Amino acid sequence: MTAMTDDELNLLTTLRRDLHRTPELAFEEERTAEKVCRVLDEAGIAYERGLGRTGVVATLRAGSGDKAIALRADFDALAIAETTNLEYRSQNPGVMHACGHDGHTTMLAGAARALAKSKSFDGTVHFIFQPAEERGVGAAAMIDDGLFDRFAADAVYSMHNMPWLPAGQFATRAGPIMAAEDNFEIRISGRGGHAAMPHHTKDALVTAAAVVTELQTIVSRAVDPLEGAVVSCTQLETDGAPNVIASHTVIRGDARSFCPAVSELIEQRMKAIVAGLCAAHGAEFTLDYTRVFAPTINTPAETDRAAAAARAVAGADNVDADCAPMMASEDFAAMLREKPGNYIFIGNAAPDGKGSTMLHNPAYDFNDDIIPLGVAYWVALVERELSAG
Ligand SMILES: [Zn+2]
Ligand SMILES: [Zn+2]
Repeated sequence: MTAMTDDELNLLTTLRRDLHRTPELAFEEERTAEKVCRVLDEAGIAYERGLGRTGVVATLRAGSGDKAIALRADFDALAIAETTNLEYRSQNPGVMHACGHDGHTTMLAGAARALAKSKSFDGTVHFIFQPAEERGVGAAAMIDDGLFDRFAADAVYSMHNMPWLPAGQFATRAGPIMAAEDNFEIRISGRGGHAAMPHHTKDALVTAAAVVTELQTIVSRAVDPLEGAVVSCTQLETDGAPNVIASHTVIRGDARSFCPAVSELIEQRMKAIVAGLCAAHGAEFTLDYTRVFAPTINTPAETDRAAAAARAVAGADNVDADCAPMMASEDFAAMLREKPGNYIFIGNAAPDGKGSTMLHNPAYDFNDDIIPLGVAYWVALVERELSAG
């Protein structure tokens, strides 16, 4: 691993803090894309803009190999009001890089610059700078714009910082690493009426209460205990009042799972439970079940190579190649449905506590000290995947 020069580290740290200062929400990342392109221009790297509206894809070729891989970073921010007192804190009120996507973008741009200079590979590398990850729609938007038709790749890789993993370490696993997220909305209609005369009503709230309780049996009684799954009812609205029995209720919630068959089972059981209980209570219903994020599933061969690249730059003791999966979701899943590949976590937490604040917290900050390691990982991965001999 070649050490990064002070000048290069300064340039990348400046980029990271500049991105942090001017965060932008999903599909509004115009200035963010512009800043990335300036840093690519400065190194003479070609790119195309406008995939998935604001996305950027840079490409490097070396040697005569016909193998191609794609590396992906996300670059959108969150609707969170930053509470840090950092000199480079967000200047865009109510918007914040609270997931470290500013750091991901910087490390990928740094890798493109390093590989443009070294040309230490044989084949093609595409560097994908993706919008709108937090809304779960950016990866799909780029794919719909022909991402993998225009930029052919044999495999695709991504990396996310992790505040509870010490800086200097990596963690990944073959198979599911992040969960699918499904959302549901159940609308129940009965017949409202006077609170003192319930026998003239079909109480939509009592029906909804039965539904909420019975939905708890999906995970406890229907899903295989060895599969991970969550069904959470998170909202309950009625049109009732203290002296008015509700005519209508709405239940909303969120379901997580790691495999499509479990997601299907949750939806089927939910339909059966809602239909049965509404029939029993004389109520009507509609159920909208939407799949927001697919599960993020790493393929074994690419995960082996990602772990080997991580070991090469961090040392074997600092790489967990069989970490526990997480119940949170990630829209890189959409790219892994198209191509084999790997999603890896890079530790963000310094011993003094820097970088250990949880993702999506208003006090979160990406740890700039991990930039050289993140860049080195990308370079090592490319050199392994597209070996120059
Ligand atoms: Zn996030
Ligand atoms: Zn994120």
